[in-house]
Amino acid sequence: MSESITIQRVVDDLRALGIQPGDTLMLRATLSAVGKLRRGAFVEALLDVVGQQGTVMGLAFTSGVLPWKLQHSEPFTRQTPSYAGALPNALLAHPQALRSAHPQTSFVAIGPHAELLTEGHGPHDGAYEPVRRLIALGGKMALIGCVSSSPGFTTAHLAEADLNLQWRMLPPWLFSQSRYVDENGKVQVFKRRDGGFCSNSYWKFYADYVRHGVLRSGFVGHAYSVLAPAAACYGIEKEILRSNPRFNVCDSPDCFMCNVQRVDRLHHAPYFLLRRLTKRWRKPPTV
Ligand SMILES: [Zn+2]
Repeated sequence: MSESITIQRVVDDLRALGIQPGDTLMLRATLSAVGKLRRGAFVEALLDVVGQQGTVMGLAFTSGVLPWKLQHSEPFTRQTPSYAGALPNALLAHPQALRSAHPQTSFVAIGPHAELLTEGHGPHDGAYEPVRRLIALGGKMALIGCVSSSPGFTTAHLAEADLNLQWRMLPPWLFSQSRYVDENGKVQVFKRRDGGFCSNSYWKFYADYVRHGVLRSGFVGHAYSVLAPAAACYGIEKEILRSNPRFNVCDSPDCFMCNVQRVDRLHHAPYFLLRRLTKRWRKPPTV
C-alpha cells in the first residue's frame, strides 16, 4: 500500500524536478506511485507549481471497439472518461479544463494556453497535433512514476506521423473504430488512419536524451520521474526514426502491433498467431 505524503512535498518535488512558474507542461503519471493523496490534490499541486501563467496538459485518450461491435458502442463526447488513468480523469474533472474533440486521442488542458492547445483538434485532424502546438509554445514533458511501465514521450508519435511512417502499419480502423457526436449533435463513425506505433521500446531513446543533455530526473513523492523539453525530444526522436524506421519495434513476441499490425513486420505474423493458438491449447481447464 502506498504511503501518505503531503501536497507540499509534491509541490517541492515538482519544482526540484525542474517545473517552473509559467511552464506549459504535458505529463503522464501513475498517481499511485507518487503516494497516497486526497482526490484532486495532485492536480492542485501541479497548478500551484506552474502558477497563473502556466498550463498543464494531459492525454485524455479513449478506446475504440472492434468494427463489428461499433453499433452497440457508446459515442464519444467531451464527457467520456479516459482509459489513460487517474491523472487525465482528474484533469477532466477540473472546472477550468478544456478538452479537444478527437474521438480517440483527445487532449485535456488547464491554463492560459488550454484553448490554443485543444481548440480545433477533432476527428479530421492528426491524432497528435496538440503536441506540435506544445512544441511551438516551448513546452516541457514529464513522466511521473511511469518511466518503467510506459516510458514514451508523445512527441515520438508526432515524429512518426511527420516522417510518414504510418504506411508501415495496417490502418488502425481495421481493428478499432469509434462513434462520436459531431457539432450538430449527430452520431458519426470515426475510422482512425494515423495510429501511433507501439511505445514499449521508447526507452531506447533515453540514451540519446541523456547524450544531448535534455533529460532531468528525480522523485515526485515516491515516484521516479523525468522531465524534458518537448522540442528537443521531438528533434532527437525524428532524427533517430528517420535513419532507422524500425527503431520503435519492441522485442516482445506477444506484441500484436510489432508482429502483426506492422506491414514491415508481417513476416512475424504466422509465428505470433501460432504462439497465440498454442497458448490457448495449453491453458489449464477451468473447474
Ligand atoms: Zn511492440
